[in-house]
Amino acid sequence: MSPASAASRGCFITGTDTDAGKTTVTAALLRALLEYGLESDPANSFEARAIKPVQTGCEPGEDANPAAPDVKRYSEALRGLSLPDAAQPRASALRCFRPACSPHLAAQAAGEHLDARELALACRAEVCKANFTLIEGAGGAHVPLNDEEDMLDLMAALDFPVLLVVSNKLGCINHALLTLDALAARGLRGAGMILCRTVPDRAGEEILRADNAAVLARKGAERGFPVLAELPFLPDLDAPSSEERERAWARLSALLRDAARHMICSCSGEIAKQSLAADELLAFDRDHIWHPYAPAAPGPKVWEAVSAAGARIRLRDGREVVDGMSSWWCAALGYRRPELIRALTEQAARMPHVMFGGLTHQPAVTLAEKLLALAPAGLNNVFFADSGSISVEAAIKMALQYWQAAGKPGKTRLAALRGAYHGDTCGAMSVCDPVTGMHHLFSGILPRQLFLERPSCRFDQAFEPASFAQTEQTLRREAATLAALIVEPVVQGAGGMWFYHPEYLRRLRAVCDEAGILLIADEIATGFGRTGKLFASEWAEISPDIMCLGKALTGGTMTLSAVLTSHRVADAISRPKAEGLPGAFMHGPTFMGSPLACAVARAAVDALLASAWQEHVARLERRLAEGLAPCRNIPGVRDVRALGAIGVVETEHPVNTEKMQDFFVRQGVWIRPFNRTVYVMPPFITPDADADLLTRSICLAFAQGMHL
Ligand SMILES: *Cc1c(COP(=O)(O)O)cnc(C)c1O
Repeated sequence: MSPASAASRGCFITGTDTDAGKTTVTAALLRALLEYGLESDPANSFEARAIKPVQTGCEPGEDANPAAPDVKRYSEALRGLSLPDAAQPRASALRCFRPACSPHLAAQAAGEHLDARELALACRAEVCKANFTLIEGAGGAHVPLNDEEDMLDLMAALDFPVLLVVSNKLGCINHALLTLDALAARGLRGAGMILCRTVPDRAGEEILRADNAAVLARKGAERGFPVLAELPFLPDLDAPSSEERERAWARLSALLRDAARHMICSCSGEIAKQSLAADELLAFDRDHIWHPYAPAAPGPKVWEAVSAAGARIRLRDGREVVDGMSSWWCAALGYRRPELIRALTEQAARMPHVMFGGLTHQPAVTLAEKLLALAPAGLNNVFFADSGSISVEAAIKMALQYWQAAGKPGKTRLAALRGAYHGDTCGAMSVCDPVTGMHHLFSGILPRQLFLERPSCRFDQAFEPASFAQTEQTLRREAATLAALIVEPVVQGAGGMWFYHPEYLRRLRAVCDEAGILLIADEIATGFGRTGKLFASEWAEISPDIMCLGKALTGGTMTLSAVLTSHRVADAISRPKAEGLPGAFMHGPTFMGSPLACAVARAAVDALLASAWQEHVARLERRLAEGLAPCRNIPGVRDVRALGAIGVVETEHPVNTEKMQDFFVRQGVWIRPFNRTVYVMPPFITPDADADLLTRSICLAFAQGMHL
């Protein structure tokens, strides 16, 4: 590969500790990269730069701007190089502070705030200016940026490969491997390790240093951090004579030549190594892998996602798209949350899974305790299942077993609302909307359920009692055969993104009580704050007999669902065996109560409760409502509505999902329209500017008639 053709690349440089030799290595690497470019590309179009996102210990400089000591050293290392455009700055510091201390303290003293995401954006803007950019962190991996974030958060937000500088001395194996563990725990890729010497050799230490090098070479290679170079101690770097200094830098640079070449070839901003080329991957996918509701081959157009952080997803080509979908309601807290990753890796390291038959464990017990404490009053028992659909299956079976135990085995049917969506397995499908659901395809296997009118009374209008009359009558008439009524409280999701009046739900609860029908609340989409209440049932101040949770339960990290039931239901099912009855609930998935999933869910629930989710959801509701309002007057648009962190534009006719999605990706947003709705339910942490980009893109799509 000719370096001249290289796109913008770079790596983040961190050390095992403060004073591990990072700045010297960065400076010498900068020289090595430029020399390599000069040699291999006589046209001299290859540029390398070094940047210091946060520089502390600055002195006032000549022009009254603070002079950054590390930037001085980078420039010093380039002395004597005959670069084509010598005046061009090849080193800079982005945020400078006077005190020589940790970034968080220095910023605090200056009355300023450092933010990992903002720093990463500033770094990215710099990276475009050269073919290869070295980004030198401050101190080691866990050095704080502010009260919450540290250097690892900056590295994760940047998502560049990381080069670890190790000072080769007593204790360095421990420090280096702990740092590699911390980097791996955040999903950071390795550029490599460079071993250096920051103090003069002492007699008798050769064996120790050689052993350090051998151990780190082996363990580093295993972890994707090969040792790229071992540097000697060079006191001449600080010699009084500038010729001696120049010679020392040239020598160091020569020792880093191979490392520089390796980094140019292997460090890209995207995950490329070991994986298929982008087009091969997409071709294999198109020919062999099913996607949701899609033909097998050729499959639909898809994009390759390589990482995600905060409210954004990164695509293979380096583009970031603002996520409007929370990955189908799940990633409500945003992606790559350190506390969720920590919960996952800690549990994975201890006990990813054991069977739940005959065994229990802390993650399941703690999560169950939390869920019952948060859920509407009266729910008392928890059944853990694998996915939303399976939790609906379990809920249906519970309702049937309840009535068998209660001596009314004739109550076997379910009532559901038109416009509902409850999942894709057979029991769940049977209670989905009979028209937009898949009933005509599977009529041979689906039980016939009872469908009630879709609640016509809007969330944002006065309740119209007449709208409930028909439903009430039907429920009372059919009660003898009805085991349960299943509803999505207040917000009907995938079946049309419809928001109905809480009074309707309150009356459903009352009629179910009077007529002897269990009420199942499917809170899989609405649970955990999405509608502005922790659970949407709270809008009507009701408690269901059975409640299904899923989706955001694990903060979008993995699949898990839970079915919560009242004492009455659980007790009846569990009553000692009567004629032909098991006295037990007859369901037990292999991965029931998965410790891994429960540990992550516990962390996700804690993170949600510790966050200002109510303010975020209220803020997003205002933003989405205002941002989408201009769509109201566009021909072909039937309705515009927002509730909680959900914004919807409903059209007269189904839209072309693929065409619109393609348009949205080009606008830098991830929105997947469905049927007659173009909707967003972004992560709660989505900043205002990103929420506005979502709504602006939707408005633009409609203004251009993409929906027609
Ligand atoms: C997504 C969803 C389901 C199904 O959950 P899966 O995890 O996809 O099986 C059920 N009910 C509602 C309301 C949903 O939004």
